[in-house]
Amino acid sequence: MRRTMKTTKQKGNKLHVKAGDRVVVISGKDKGKVGTVKQALPQKGKLTVEDTNMITKAMKANPMANFQGGLVKLEAPMDSSKVMLYCSKCEKATRISYKVLEDGTKTRVCKKCDEQFDT
Ligand SMILES: [Zn+2]
Repeated sequence: MRRTMKTTKQKGNKLHVKAGDRVVVISGKDKGKVGTVKQALPQKGKLTVEDTNMITKAMKANPMANFQGGLVKLEAPMDSSKVMLYCSKCEKATRISYKVLEDGTKTRVCKKCDEQFDT
């Protein structure tokens, strides 16, 4: 019996950036803004960046958390393709390349200046 192969289009579940990275927004209303990645959502291909793509959400009161309800500002997830890694050495958005170090660890480096991001 042959197994039928299901070809499901899989979205790469790894982002080029991760929580804590400094990134530059390259499109949308916050274009040009530099911020820190708050949360990466690889499954969705999205991420949230501190103080970027803010939305105002009406929240219900939560007596347990001593929260009275009202409008809360929070970061909305945006597409990972809208940000680029920020290189502090080049002082601008940069493309990254991957480099394998002598001890076998894979690290991301700036394509222009070779600055390492995962140290
Ligand atoms: Zn650089």
